[in-house]
Amino acid sequence: MADSVVVLLPPGLRFLLLPRDRGEGRRPLGFDPDATVGHLVQAAGVPLTEVGRLRLDGDPVEGTARARSGSTIEVSEVARPQRAAAGGFLLDVGLGALARRMRLLGLDTSWSNDADDTELVARAAAEERVLLTQDRQLLMRRALPAGALVRGSRPDDQLDDVLSRFAPPLAPLTRCTACGGVLAPVPKEDVADRLEPGTRRAYDDFSQCDACGRVYWHGAHARRIDRLITTVVGGRATLSGTTEHTQQGSASALRVRDTADPRT
Ligand SMILES: [Zn+2]
Repeated sequence: MADSVVVLLPPGLRFLLLPRDRGEGRRPLGFDPDATVGHLVQAAGVPLTEVGRLRLDGDPVEGTARARSGSTIEVSEVARPQRAAAGGFLLDVGLGALARRMRLLGLDTSWSNDADDTELVARAAAEERVLLTQDRQLLMRRALPAGALVRGSRPDDQLDDVLSRFAPPLAPLTRCTACGGVLAPVPKEDVADRLEPGTRRAYDDFSQCDACGRVYWHGAHARRIDRLITTVVGGRATLSGTTEHTQQGSASALRVRDTADPRT
């Protein structure tokens, strides 16, 4: 049709289309002389954070180019691995379980359960973090400098997606799973009064979060945590079946008498 524009998507992005358009990966849109290529791609349901290269009638273009009546816009998926922003990651409120897993692997991960969309965008910009979310409208906000749409409904699948997308360097057991702060070794005598007697007898090496003061040790569930880390770090294999282990493991790894975390 002369008065329309067609957006073509690769298989990896077709889940973003209306069900009726997914098979062909093709979304026809009305032609609007004021709309840029970027606007049209977003109108098809695809945040630009998920887009690699754009072609307009066969020619490479930027998102600011203007389509012509009857144009075809071809979209490619963002290349993996993608470079992450300098400041680390900021997770949307619904991604708390993913946040714990990322922190367990030592990724700089900011998360809280009560930020609204405007606050998330402002923090991502101010702290130079990549905003990870499953809300594509949030990714379409113009003030957002860097973001990614997290695939998967299970936290383990989400973790796989984030690791494959950014291939970030991992440093397991170096961060607080509760707040994301950095752990530093602490002498046993400095924290002895905060430990259960059994823990005090059984362990000698402790570390402490520089932000919230939580004390960690390689405790009862360490083997489970180690297994999770081995699975992820070695070959990035599937994490199926490790969900419970992670949650139990990370909760019990931070057993501190006077600071109970309601989320653990
Ligand atoms: Zn902490």
